[in-house]
Amino acid sequence: MSETDDVRALMEADRWIDRVRSQKTHLPELNELSSLEGQLRQLLKDLHEAELVVAPVKSEYEGVARESAHLKDRARDLDARLSSSTANARELTAIQGELTHVRELLAANEDRELELLMQVEPLDERVVAIKATAQPAASRRGELIDLIAQLRATLDDELVALRESRTATAAPLSAPLLARYEAALKHSGTSGAAQVIDGRCDGCRIALSPLDYDRFKSLAPDTLMDCPECGRLLLP
Ligand SMILES: [Zn+2]
Repeated sequence: MSETDDVRALMEADRWIDRVRSQKTHLPELNELSSLEGQLRQLLKDLHEAELVVAPVKSEYEGVARESAHLKDRARDLDARLSSSTANARELTAIQGELTHVRELLAANEDRELELLMQVEPLDERVVAIKATAQPAASRRGELIDLIAQLRATLDDELVALRESRTATAAPLSAPLLARYEAALKHSGTSGAAQVIDGRCDGCRIALSPLDYDRFKSLAPDTLMDCPECGRLLLP
C-alpha cells in the first residue's frame, strides 16, 4: 500500500470512530427520554396544583364530618336521656329544646358535609387521573434509562475495538506523516485527512481555490498537501 492508501485507511478508521461516538450522543431513545421527562415534569406540576386545590377542601370536609359525628353522639345522648329520664317536666323541656337545636345543627352540618364531598370527589379524581397518566410514563422512563445505558455500553465496547484496530491501521505511517495527520485531527476533529471531491475538501466542505486545486492535481505521488481551510491532509 502507498502512504496515501495508509492515510486513507486511517481517515476511514477515524471517521468510523467518529460515527460511533456521535451515535452515542444521538440515540433516538435520548429524544424520547427527553420528551417523556418534559411530560412528567408537567404532570408533576399538575399533580402539585391539583393537590393544593384539593387539600383545603378535603381538610374542611374532614372537619365538618368530625363535627357531624360529634353532633350525632350528642343527639343520641339527649335522646337516651329523654326516654329514660326521671327528670321533672322543666328539665325534660330543656333537654327537648337542646335536642331540637342539636338536630338543626346536625342537619345544616350534614348539608355542608355533602356539599364538600361533592367538591372533593372530582378534585380527588383529578389527582388520581394525573397519577394514572404519569404511571406508564414513569415506567417507560425507567425502561429507556436502562436501554440507553445498554446501548451506550455496546457502543463503548465497539469504540474500544475500533480504537485498537485504529492503532494497527496507524502503524505503517511514517512518524512525520503520522504527526501531521494527528495535528490535523487535533485541530479539526473527526479525521486528520479528507478527500477532494469535485474540487472540494469533504472534511470542511470548502472548495479549493483554482490555484490550490491546480497545486493539488500536480502533486507528486505520495506527496500530500494540507487543506488551506481546515488543515486536513488532502487525498485524491
Ligand atoms: Zn478542508
